[in-house]
Amino acid sequence: MWYLFLFLFIIVLLVFGFLLHKNIQERKGLRVLMYHHIGKEDDGNPSDYFVSDEMFAKHLDFLLAENYNPVSLSDVESAYFKKTKLPERAVLLTFDDGYSNNYEYAFPLALSRKIPITIFVNAGEINMKDGMLDWSQVQEMANSGFVRFASHGMSHRNLRQMDYSEAISELLLSRTWLHHLSQSDVRSFCYPYGAFDKQVREWVFEAGFRLDFGTRKGINAWPWTGRRPLKRLHIMRGDSLEDFSNQLRRGKK
Ligand SMILES: [Zn+2]
Repeated sequence: MWYLFLFLFIIVLLVFGFLLHKNIQERKGLRVLMYHHIGKEDDGNPSDYFVSDEMFAKHLDFLLAENYNPVSLSDVESAYFKKTKLPERAVLLTFDDGYSNNYEYAFPLALSRKIPITIFVNAGEINMKDGMLDWSQVQEMANSGFVRFASHGMSHRNLRQMDYSEAISELLLSRTWLHHLSQSDVRSFCYPYGAFDKQVREWVFEAGFRLDFGTRKGINAWPWTGRRPLKRLHIMRGDSLEDFSNQLRRGKK
């Protein structure tokens, strides 16, 4: 009888050891960071996705100090479309919605460190709504060579609540408009609210997008199969630098 207990004990130890190892070990693959608002700590921004400019600068310095490799959306697109190589520990910094605080705070901090960023912008809200980017800001950032713009739709509406013709015109308009403003091809799409299903995904690809980003959390195994939207790491108000480091290393805080 005793050997049965010994056997079970060894199995439990092995499982425990494996889980511990998996948790400690750094995951391989592409990390996509999901930011929204960057600003001054005391500016009263209520969003759960607000990160202060000081903390954002710490994130950027951490990436460089810890030998992560910030890549541009163009790097990721050509790695996916043309099978070029992504560097080890590649990190893509993305910003959702297109807030003007991205221009005021994120852009200069990233540019001074030569770190590329990507903004998934609500194309129909550029120049149209307080707090959102305006045309000249989009053009200035695009011209810097360190900012790529991609689509988050026109109006931040949930694509799952649209019919075919509404969704296709939303998607096509955003692509054309962003292409015109940023003078570069727009092939990547990010779902408003992370909302998608099989049908919506088909429409996104039909509108000419080839790479899609969602809100599921985690690190993306690379090469990417494209079977699901790319996962991202949620960067939230109140996250410590240790949370940031843990997410980068293993995909969760
Ligand atoms: Zn959004």
